[in-house]
Amino acid sequence: MNAVATRMNASVRYEPLEDMAHTPVPFADLSIQWDQIRPAAMADLEKLFAESAFCQGPWATAFEAQIADYLGAKHAVAVNSGSSALHVATIAAGIGRGDKVLVPAHTFIGTIWGLIYEGAIPVFCDVDDATGTIDLADAERRMEPGVKAIIPVHLYGQPVDLPATLAFAERHGLTVIEDCAQAIGACHQGRSVGTFGAMGCFSFYPGKNLGGAGEGGLVVTDDGDKADLMRAVRNHGQGERYVHERVGYNYRMDGIQALVLSHKLRRLDGWTDQRRAVAARYAEALAGTPLRLPVTAHGDHVYHLYVVRTRQRDALKAFLDARGVQTGLHYPVPLYRQPCLSGIASSHATAPFPVTEDWAANGLSLPMFAGMTAEQQDQVIDAIHDFFKGSRS
Ligand SMILES: *Cc1c(COP(=O)(O)O)cnc(C)c1O
Repeated sequence: MNAVATRMNASVRYEPLEDMAHTPVPFADLSIQWDQIRPAAMADLEKLFAESAFCQGPWATAFEAQIADYLGAKHAVAVNSGSSALHVATIAAGIGRGDKVLVPAHTFIGTIWGLIYEGAIPVFCDVDDATGTIDLADAERRMEPGVKAIIPVHLYGQPVDLPATLAFAERHGLTVIEDCAQAIGACHQGRSVGTFGAMGCFSFYPGKNLGGAGEGGLVVTDDGDKADLMRAVRNHGQGERYVHERVGYNYRMDGIQALVLSHKLRRLDGWTDQRRAVAARYAEALAGTPLRLPVTAHGDHVYHLYVVRTRQRDALKAFLDARGVQTGLHYPVPLYRQPCLSGIASSHATAPFPVTEDWAANGLSLPMFAGMTAEQQDQVIDAIHDFFKGSRS
């Protein structure tokens, strides 16, 4: 995500390298999506501005209905970011001060902000070596009194082992909040992630598989009471207008985001297919290298990220940089080592996290986006082959 952010903030997008033998390959290229929706979205934007429908409003309401249908959920509650989605879901789950929640140690920090805001305590669990998703055997070892919920993260676009996760949660009486920020469109046996737990949370950060023209997020649930509560919380805690029944936030979705997302959602499945084709091509071309490649284990991967692992990660990253290939790190500093969390969660890190450390030290995200050309991908693949040729000699 950092690479995408850097790219979007850059005033000059891709300056030609001095070595013109290699055209730069971006980590992601969002302009391809925009080009596809542009004519229809621009026409709708004219309407939106004429209506001044900027905050929540009819566009967001329509988008909620559209995406609830797409995901197969009864209710969709649009908010202004994935982190806000996880926060309102935390509140709706009744998680409060001192409550403990199992979370993977290897994830983006947005997974746990809602817990921190509510005074709850993340209980970090190590992750599975093959997939990087929460390791339930480790979660079992870290169970303790006061654990009320679990937030499995469908990391990099791959569903966690959902049947095992739901069985684990039921055995321990835990609420399941799915973090689907990286996995929109991913399914387990034909059913969308986000519809298995009590609530499923999505992010529409521009670099995500379904990304807005700014920030956005959403919670889905089949529980009407939770949906009502989250709708109130996102809108200053109002049920009835000017009556603030509870502490709320201004977490409403922008009309502009809803409009753009609505146009993009119609194309999402096609873009997901393109991501899968890119992943399949990487898998074939990189099979003979020393890299550890992503595996698909528990359902349909949507390849938000294509993360390979090697002990030579930093050298490979520098080599690819020099060849004009942008890569990313997801995530190099585990949550239990984040400065802002010392004193909150550190006392709960009672055992080491060897697999999380491995992903953090050795994981490298290769360029991956819908619309990536074969030429761009060949350049990544050739550079990786050249790196390992050189490093062996
Ligand atoms: C992006 C992301 C979030 C947070 O979403 P924002 O929209 O950036 O607030 C949460 N969890 C994971 C796993 C993410 O990748």
